[in-house]
Amino acid sequence: MDYPYLAELLFPDVKLTPEELESRYPARQLPEGAIVSRAAPSPTGFVHLGNIVQGLTSERLCHQSGGVFFLRIEDTDAKREVQGAVETLIEALKHYHILFDEGATVDGDIGPYGPYRQRQRAQIYHVYAKKLVAEGKAYPCFCTEEELDAMRNTQEARKDNFGYYGAYAVWRDRPMEDIKTELAAGKPWVLRFRSEGNIENKIKFTDLIKGNLELTENDVDHVLLKSDGIPTYHFAHAVDDHLMRTTHVVRGDEWLPSLPFHVQLFRALGFRLPKYAHIGPLMKMDGTSKRKLSKRKDPELALTFYQAQGYPVPAVLEYVLTILNSNFEDWRQANPDANLDDFKFSYKKMNPAGSLFDVDKLRDVSKNVISRMSADEVYALVLEWAKEFDVPFAAALEAEPDKARAAFAIGRGGKKPRKDLAIWSEAKSYMGFIFDALFAREDEIDPKFDKADVCAALTVFAQDYDPADEQSVWFDKIKAITDSLGYASDMKAYRADPAAFRGSVADVSMFLRVAVTGKLNSPDMYEVMRVLGRKTVLARIHALLETLER
Ligand code: GLU
Repeated sequence: MDYPYLAELLFPDVKLTPEELESRYPARQLPEGAIVSRAAPSPTGFVHLGNIVQGLTSERLCHQSGGVFFLRIEDTDAKREVQGAVETLIEALKHYHILFDEGATVDGDIGPYGPYRQRQRAQIYHVYAKKLVAEGKAYPCFCTEEELDAMRNTQEARKDNFGYYGAYAVWRDRPMEDIKTELAAGKPWVLRFRSEGNIENKIKFTDLIKGNLELTENDVDHVLLKSDGIPTYHFAHAVDDHLMRTTHVVRGDEWLPSLPFHVQLFRALGFRLPKYAHIGPLMKMDGTSKRKLSKRKDPELALTFYQAQGYPVPAVLEYVLTILNSNFEDWRQANPDANLDDFKFSYKKMNPAGSLFDVDKLRDVSKNVISRMSADEVYALVLEWAKEFDVPFAAALEAEPDKARAAFAIGRGGKKPRKDLAIWSEAKSYMGFIFDALFAREDEIDPKFDKADVCAALTVFAQDYDPADEQSVWFDKIKAITDSLGYASDMKAYRADPAAFRGSVADVSMFLRVAVTGKLNSPDMYEVMRVLGRKTVLARIHALLETLER
C-alpha cells in the first residue's frame, strides 16, 4: 500500500507540516520542575464540583511549581454543546478563583499556544492525521452506522469483545481501489488508528495519584477523526497536550481505561508522553455504602447549588482542599489564619480511590470560614448573594447598611468568634428580624408559662430598658425581674430543684427574645437590642404585650 499516496488522497489541502507546527509551538522556557497543565472541560452546560476538583488540583500543581496553567475548551462534541456553555464555564471557574495564565477567556483567547478551543484547531489535527496515514498508522473507514450496529450484534451473540479490532476491523487492510471507489462516491469516512496492541499483553504504568498500574494493551482501531473532520477526545488530547507543551495531564479517572490507547497514540505520533495524574471520583455516603456523586440524584454536584445556597467561594475551596489532601485539616488547624495559597498541595496526599464528599462537613468548614470574616465582608457578600437570590432581603440590607453591619458584627472578632452562619441563604433567618420590613413573630412563647408572668416581665423590662447600660447592668436588671416573679436567677439552684421555681432566668430571657426578635433563637440579645435601639425594642415589646393582653 502506498501510504503517502493515500495521505495525499485523504488530505489534499493539508500543506502544513508537523515540523512547522513544532516550531510554531516551541518548547516552553521554564525552570526545571515547573509543571505545565491545564483544565480541559467540555462545554456541556453543566458545571460541577468535578470541574473545581480538577481545576484546583492542576492549578495548584502548576502555580506552586512556577509553571503555567491554561484553559482549553474541548468543544469537539457539537451534539452535547449548549448555547452559552463556554461562557458559563469560564465564568464559573473564574468565580471559584481557578485562575489561568493562558487560554480561553470570554473576550477571546490569550497566550502563544492557541487557539485554545479545539474546533478552531481542526487544521492542526489534520496535519498529524495526514502524517499518521502517510506512515501507515491510520486509515479511513467507511463503515455505516448500520454496519457498526450489525457488528456489535454479532459480537454480542458470539460473546466477543466489543469494538473495531482484529477481523472486525474490516477497513484496516482494504486495497486502495476500494478506498478510491468509496471516496469517488462521496461516502463519509472516519479516520481510524491502526493499533498494534494485543489484549494478551499488559503495560506497566505509574500514575502520580494511582501509583503503579498494570493495564491491558489496546487492540481497538479507535476513531481519530470523525466524519466531519473533527477529532475525538483521544486524538485532540495527544496533539494538543503535545503542542501546548503540557507536562502533566490531570484528569478524572474515567479516562484511565483509555490510557493504553493514549500511550500508543503518543508513541505513534513521536510525542513524548506527559505525566498523568488520574483523580478518583467524588463519592458520598448513601446509607451505609459509598457511591459516586451523581448528576441525576445529587443536586450538590452542580456548582449552581453552591451559588444558590450561598456558600462563600473560599469555603468551597477550603472544603475541596480538605477532601483532596489528607493533611490539609491538620495544616489548617496549625495555621488558622493562613492564606489558602500557603498550603503546600501535593498529589501524594490524594486518595487514589477518590474523595468522600459530605455537605455537613462543608457546612462546618463554611461556618469556620465565615467566622473569620469581618462584618463588612459578610455584609458585602450577603448583599451580593441576596441581589441575585432574595431581592426583598437585598433591599432591606441596602436601606439600612449600618444596622445590618452592626448585626453581622455581633459575636464576631476576638479569639472565639461565633459560628452561627454557614450559608448566605440562612442570613435572613439569622438577622433579618432587625429590619421592621422583615420582622415577624415566627415563634411563640410556650403557653405553659403563665401569661401574667410573661406580661409582668416584659412590662418591667420595658420601663427600665436603657441601651447605654453595660451588659452586666442590663443582665442584673433581667435577673431582678426574674427573682421578683419567683423564677430562678441562679441556674445552678434552678437545676438542683426546678420544682421550687416557676421558671428560670433562661425563660425570662426567652420571653424578651421572642418579643424583640420574633424567634426562640437569635444572636446575643444584649447586642441585638443595641442594634435595634430603644424605640424599636420598646415598640416590639409593647406589640407583644398587646396581643397577650387581648
Ligand atoms: N474534556 C475532557 C473532560 O471534560 C477532559 C479530560 C482531560 O482533562 O484531558 O472530561
